Amino acid sequence: MSLPRGFRDYFPEEFEILEFIRDKFVRRCTLYGFRLMEPSTLESLEVLEAKSGPSIREEIYFFRDKGGRDVGLRFDLTVGLTRYACSKRDLPLPIKLASFADVWRYDEPQRARYRWFYQWDVETYGPKGPEADAEIISFTKGMFEDVGLKDVQIKLGDRRMVQKLVEDVTGLKNSKVLELMRMLDKMDKKEKDALIKEYSAKGFSLQQIEEVLKLGVVEGDLNVMLSRFGEGSVPEGLRTLSEILKELEIKFTISIKVVRGLDYYTSYVFEVFDGSNLELGALAGGGRYDILPSIFGRPEIGATGIAGGVERLILALRQKKFSLLQLPTIYVAYIRGLEKEAFKLVEELRNYGFRAIVDVSRRSLSKQLEEADRIGSLCSILILPSEFKEEKVIVKDMRKKFEVKVEVKRLVDFLKDHI
Ligand code: AMP
Repeated sequence: MSLPRGFRDYFPEEFEILEFIRDKFVRRCTLYGFRLMEPSTLESLEVLEAKSGPSIREEIYFFRDKGGRDVGLRFDLTVGLTRYACSKRDLPLPIKLASFADVWRYDEPQRARYRWFYQWDVETYGPKGPEADAEIISFTKGMFEDVGLKDVQIKLGDRRMVQKLVEDVTGLKNSKVLELMRMLDKMDKKEKDALIKEYSAKGFSLQQIEEVLKLGVVEGDLNVMLSRFGEGSVPEGLRTLSEILKELEIKFTISIKVVRGLDYYTSYVFEVFDGSNLELGALAGGGRYDILPSIFGRPEIGATGIAGGVERLILALRQKKFSLLQLPTIYVAYIRGLEKEAFKLVEELRNYGFRAIVDVSRRSLSKQLEEADRIGSLCSILILPSEFKEEKVIVKDMRKKFEVKVEVKRLVDFLKDHI
């Protein structure tokens, strides 16, 4: 009866937080004008390979369907959204899309890494300038604030800048430079000595490796980059992006070692962490990937966006003893024979927006009150024959503050005043 490796059921405690996050996400999308949609769960393998080539097969679920077509489950939302945006030639630019849905990856399962998980995702298609990227980052910061994470760290990188710096310090070009940029990406995961060993074996000199590792530790704001590397090394767009973010009072660091997928990102890259819980890994990641629209036949449009892992966010929130502000619960308890009356009253309370729970297990009155306590009801309403004859019920405050008889017709007003 066990589940496949890397899969789990979504328990109510987690699913409630997922719905809370979805709600905040949707609200923020509305504020920013990102239109929600969901790309297909299944894509043809060819489309899934567009981003990183056939090597993606190692990381995804793919199979041949009964009609002999090679297909695969979506591993992110970006590919499907981009395919959609590029196929709709009549849509006015910019196309701002958002999605909140599940994805499948053949990742090695571990803490905060699953084979089936949810992502929230916003993408802007059309502009190639940094204003669209600034909006993506501003969205992300707002979204994390909305769910209650105030202490996020935003890291920015710029692939063009890093590439030029690596070329300058090593005298190398093209694929060799890309290899050393991949080393930068590994700096947080591997010790310096291990990297030196690995890259010496690939034929790089100790001096080249050490120079690149020295670059990798540089972090700071725009001024740090300008003074360390000089005006000419910082692309104009990165400068504008930094200036807009500064004006919006968004804290961020530019980091040389943040490069992410090199086959894919063309300039800016973003990563977001929970500042008080760095071990969780990135809560969100993204960047500018103008290359994908051109693979899908629209070289004239730019693309930038970000995707966040919902389960990681749930873990981060749960570690902060996050609790959802739930609707107060009212428990309606009754003596056998008064079922009709109890169900009518419960319906009325629900129609007024109260969360009302009624016994459906034919329990005794005392067992019903135990249940009311167990589920954390704020108050119980007791329907008893003698009181009900007088059209009254007993309202019992579960925190033992009061127990009063209330006329049925006044009950809703009474609860509104006292709950
Ligand atoms: P990516 O699409 O790889 O850039 O990932 C975007 C975000 O999704 C990451 O920052 C994580 O928060 C989350 N994520 C990626 N892979 C997994 C996974 N296997 N399990 C859970 N969350 C993940």
